[in-house]
Amino acid sequence: MSNPKKVMIVDDSMVMRAMIKDVLTKEGFEVVGQAKNGKEALEQYPKLNPDLVTMDIIMPGEHGTDVVKKMIELDKDARIIIVSGLNQKNLVMQAMDNGAKEFLVKPFENKELIEAAMKTAR
Ligand SMILES: [Mg+2]
Repeated sequence: MSNPKKVMIVDDSMVMRAMIKDVLTKEGFEVVGQAKNGKEALEQYPKLNPDLVTMDIIMPGEHGTDVVKKMIELDKDARIIIVSGLNQKNLVMQAMDNGAKEFLVKPFENKELIEAAMKTAR
């Protein structure tokens, strides 16, 4: 791929970030940034200008739900996939209301992540 889509991964779990990075890198995406909380994500976003963001919900500090809202304020065309745990349906719906485009519920199949990424990246 001559022009790989740039991805930023936001998750407080290093294991989850590594897993998402591995799957998407093998699929030809370029992971240009990783953040472990909303503050880091919002600092990095304007510099990296990624084509896609994966966003955890439960992190120290702000919930991904609120980070989505602020990211959309920075860039109304931000493409965000929510990665949620089980029993977080209300937060997922709130995140979608706030402008996220897609969501995945852990544990998800690699295929689901790839499909969501291809569909959502700009
Ligand atoms: Mg988390």
